[in-house]
Amino acid sequence: MNIRDNIETIRQITQKYSAKLITVSKTYPPEVISEAYQVGMRSFGENRVQELIPKYEALPKDIEWHLIGTLQSNKVKYIAPFVSLIHSIDSAKLSEAVNKEAQKHNRIIDCLLQIHIATEETKQGFSYTEAAEYLQSGKIGDLTHIRIIGMMGMATFTENQSQIRAEFKSLKAFFEKMKSSINLPNVALSEISMGMSGDYVIALQEGSTMIRVGSAVFGKR
Ligand SMILES: *Cc1c(COP(=O)(O)O)cnc(C)c1O
Repeated sequence: MNIRDNIETIRQITQKYSAKLITVSKTYPPEVISEAYQVGMRSFGENRVQELIPKYEALPKDIEWHLIGTLQSNKVKYIAPFVSLIHSIDSAKLSEAVNKEAQKHNRIIDCLLQIHIATEETKQGFSYTEAAEYLQSGKIGDLTHIRIIGMMGMATFTENQSQIRAEFKSLKAFFEKMKSSINLPNVALSEISMGMSGDYVIALQEGSTMIRVGSAVFGKR
């Protein structure tokens, strides 16, 4: 299987669910990303700012870059001019930093709240309680240069499919609950970013609107 075939296969499934495929290009060089670009991919995900900047500079400007990994407040300034969607807002402090940098560039940056849905402690994100409190506090409403368009979650790394499914199901339920109860001008919940190479089919079945797939497209890192 080559990159073209991998993308074709995953794109077909993604389209069946009217979801979006974001190819995660972290660790792969620009030449490899170009192969995906040539078969029509325009949305790429990176998890490190230091790695994203040179790729942004080297590759065509019609690429939408998604920041999917842990983001430090002091790094936001480097991506604020061009980033398309930040999937990993995991604190009030970070959302304020993104707002501030977006304002400097006269942009409104789309963001997702990262929710901790896995059992591993290592994964980042708001707990359900923290996210609900943050949304209900209305504080996001003051951040006029960001727009919260949804939520991102990473399931536990496990062979247990029913556990993965339950984690995605709970994120979808929380998303729906917040969608129907939060009324802020810059919160418009429409996207659920869940599903990676090992679990994107389950994620799509459970309501994902964006899957973030790396190794199933580009091969082992
Ligand atoms: C690396 C990464 C992915 C993609 O992982 P694969 O298993 O290679 O598909 C998705 N989301 C995040 C946040 C990642 O860091």
